[in-house]
Amino acid sequence: MNVKVVTTVAEVKAAVKAWRIEGKTVGFVPTMGYLHEGHESLIKKSVAENDVTVVSIFVNPMQFGPKEDLASYPRDLEADTKLCNNAGANLIFHPETSEMYQDGFSSYVDVNGLTNSLCGLSRPGHFRGVCTVVTKLFNIVTPDKAYFGEKDAQQLAVIKRMVTDLNMNLEIIGCPIIREDDGLAKSSRNTYLSPNTRQESLIISKSIFMGKKMIEEGERDAAKVIQAIKDSINTSKLMDIDYVEIVDANTMESITEIKGEILCAVAVRANGEARLIDNFMMSV
Ligand code: AMP
Repeated sequence: MNVKVVTTVAEVKAAVKAWRIEGKTVGFVPTMGYLHEGHESLIKKSVAENDVTVVSIFVNPMQFGPKEDLASYPRDLEADTKLCNNAGANLIFHPETSEMYQDGFSSYVDVNGLTNSLCGLSRPGHFRGVCTVVTKLFNIVTPDKAYFGEKDAQQLAVIKRMVTDLNMNLEIIGCPIIREDDGLAKSSRNTYLSPNTRQESLIISKSIFMGKKMIEEGERDAAKVIQAIKDSINTSKLMDIDYVEIVDANTMESITEIKGEILCAVAVRANGEARLIDNFMMSV
């Protein structure tokens, strides 16, 4: 194994300091672990574009709501370490919660506006938790570039906004959604799905691809595309829609007429087993 696993902030800072003395560039991939090919694509891109790559594996309690799946979130450090090693990462930062949030912790990063819709609405406090932990991780790792998936499109937009607004000294790189062969977007949470629910969940990607096709064929009425996607997802009795929205990709605000850079995003509860998200972006 070439990759090293460390658990303290001090160890990460020491490693980065040594690399900096050697003049090396640092890429960073923040994750919550239980890594799959989606994460792997981010790590490989970082390895290709930087001299060294740090991956963080931290299930961040601050971004989970009280009724969400913090306790059951899947974890497998051994498999994650192998994946990181094979992808060429150099360092895994795997802190305990107490290492990240010490007694008396009381500073938060809030990005307004972009977080008023989609997952920002249905998961209150989620993006505050994400922005706070990502800021901490950026301060610890001080990367030149950090890699985020378009799977979490709103998160990517929020992080880019935060980095611009707060003059953070790094570049944010967005990476395309990696899917299973049958179209389901890869997610650590897919492991929650029973075989039957997993099969029925295919309706999510099928439905948004159908919506995309409607737009490609000339439909410009967002309400019509949204309704068609909802009707399609609702053909499965196991799917409980949280939201289906079409928003301006830059502001995350709902639009009525489809034009410019758009994001079509969905969140669906699959048989009470997992909340799955998916999306597509388009320039019209
Ligand atoms: P997570 O471990 O779910 O917090 O995800 C860590 C990073 O991996 C985030 O930037 C995600 O957007 C990205 N990611 C997760 N799943 C995928 C996927 N299927 N394709 C591309 N990126 C992904």
